[in-house]
Amino acid sequence: MQGQTRAIVEQSLQALMKDPLFIPDLQDNIREQAFTSLAAILSTPNKIHKSFLRMPLENGQVVRIPAYRVHHNDALGPYKGGIRFHESVNEEEVINLAFLMTLKNSLHDVPFGGGKGGIVLNPRERTDKELNVISKKYVQYFADVLGPDKDIPAPDVGSGEREMDWMMAEYKSIKPGKPYRGSFTGKSVINGGSLGRREATGKGVYYTFRYMLHDFLLKQEDWLNKTDNPFAKTALSLAKRPLRISVQGFGNVGSVTALEAYQCQELHNKVVAVSDRNCTLYNPDGLDIPALISYTAVHQGDLPTTAEQLKKSGVKAEILNREEVLTIEADVLMLAALEDQVHKGNMAKVPARIIVEGANAPVTAEADAFFNNKGVIIIPDILANAGGVIVSYLEWLQGRETQFLSEEEVFSMLFNKMKQTLDTILPKFFGDPHPLRQNCYIHSVMKLSTVLYRQGKLY
Ligand code: GLU
Repeated sequence: MQGQTRAIVEQSLQALMKDPLFIPDLQDNIREQAFTSLAAILSTPNKIHKSFLRMPLENGQVVRIPAYRVHHNDALGPYKGGIRFHESVNEEEVINLAFLMTLKNSLHDVPFGGGKGGIVLNPRERTDKELNVISKKYVQYFADVLGPDKDIPAPDVGSGEREMDWMMAEYKSIKPGKPYRGSFTGKSVINGGSLGRREATGKGVYYTFRYMLHDFLLKQEDWLNKTDNPFAKTALSLAKRPLRISVQGFGNVGSVTALEAYQCQELHNKVVAVSDRNCTLYNPDGLDIPALISYTAVHQGDLPTTAEQLKKSGVKAEILNREEVLTIEADVLMLAALEDQVHKGNMAKVPARIIVEGANAPVTAEADAFFNNKGVIIIPDILANAGGVIVSYLEWLQGRETQFLSEEEVFSMLFNKMKQTLDTILPKFFGDPHPLRQNCYIHSVMKLSTVLYRQGKLY
C-alpha cells in the first residue's frame, strides 16, 4: 500500500517537472535536483511517535498496547488525521494513512498537514472502562506533540465521538488554561463538536459520486461526447439510467453513503447490496436502507445475519457471505470498510464500472492498474472521503470562535468545498489519459511542492 502511494507521488512529480508552468524558476539541473528532493520529502514522514500504553485490564492483568502518532508533513498547517482503534494497526499502515491525509488536505485546500494515529486493539473485545483508560493514556503519552496548533486528531475506524470527548477532556486537564476545544475534532455536539460531523464523510462520498455522474456530466455532456477518453465513455454509459449500487461496510461511512444513495432524487439508484464484517444482504429490487439503519442502531451496529433477524428488521433480502458484496451484479461499488479489499485475487470478479473509495486505500496497486486498463472509474479516497476532515476543519474553526454553525450551513460549506475541488479536477481528468487518482495526486503534489519551494525547503 505504501509503495503504491509513493509510486504515484513520483509519477506525479515526473508529470509536473515536464509542465513549464510548474515552478518556472527552477531550470535544468536545479529542476532535476528539486524533483529528487521533493520525492524524498513527500515520501517520508517528518516524525513517527510510538509508545506502549500501559493498560490495566478489568481482570487485574496489566498489558502494554502499541500506539502510534505519525506526523507526515505540516507544510500546509498543523498535522491532522484520525486515530484508528483496530487490531491490525501497524507502523507502515499509520505512515501511509498519514501520507494520504497530507495529500487529501492539499487536494481540498484544507489548511492542515497530514497526520494519523493508531492503537493496536480490537475495541469490540474491550470494556467501556478499558477503552476510556486507553483513550486517556494515549493523550497522556502523546500530549506534548498534540494540540490545536500542532496536531489535531479525529475519529477513524474503531473510534468515534465518545473517544474524542474523553481525549479532549484529558488534554484539557493535562494542559490547564490552554485552548483545548480545537485539540480534537469529531467530538459530540454538546461537547463542542460540529453539527453534521458524524455524517460528513458518508455524505461527501455520495456527493462526489453524484456530482460527477449527474451535475458535471449534464453540464459537460456535449464536450464529453466528443472526446475519446475511455473514462468519459464509462461515465456517459452510466448516465441517465437506473444504477445498481453495492456498498461494502455499514459503519459511520457506509450506512450514510447507502442512505444518501437510497434517498437521492437526481439519480435512479437502487442499493442492491450492503455488507458488514458478518454478511452481505442482497436484493436485486433494492434494499430498505432506513430500516437497516434503524436495526443496526439497536444491535451494536451489526446488520441482521439470520432469517429471523431479517424478519425482525422488516427488510427483504438474501443473506450472502460478506465478500459477495464485491462481486454481485452492480454498476457502482462503494467501498467503505478497510484497506486492501479489492486485490489481485478478486479484482477480475468485480463487475462495477465505477468504484468509489469511502475507506482509505481499499483498492491495491495491482487492482487499480487492472481497473484503469478496463476504463473503470475509481473515485479515489483523497477525493471522495474528505468530507470528514473538511467538517473537522469547520469544527476546529467553530471551537476557536465559539460561534457555532447550523447543520444546513455546515453541509452547504462542505458541498461547496468539494464542488470547488471537483470543478478543478474533473475537466482535467476527462481531458487527459491519466486516471482520476493520478490527476488528484498531481494536483495535491503541485500545491505541496510549490509551498515547500516557497518555504525554502528545497535548499
Ligand atoms: N479519519 C478521517 C480521515 O481519514 C478524518 C480525519 C479528520 O477529520 O481529521 O479522513
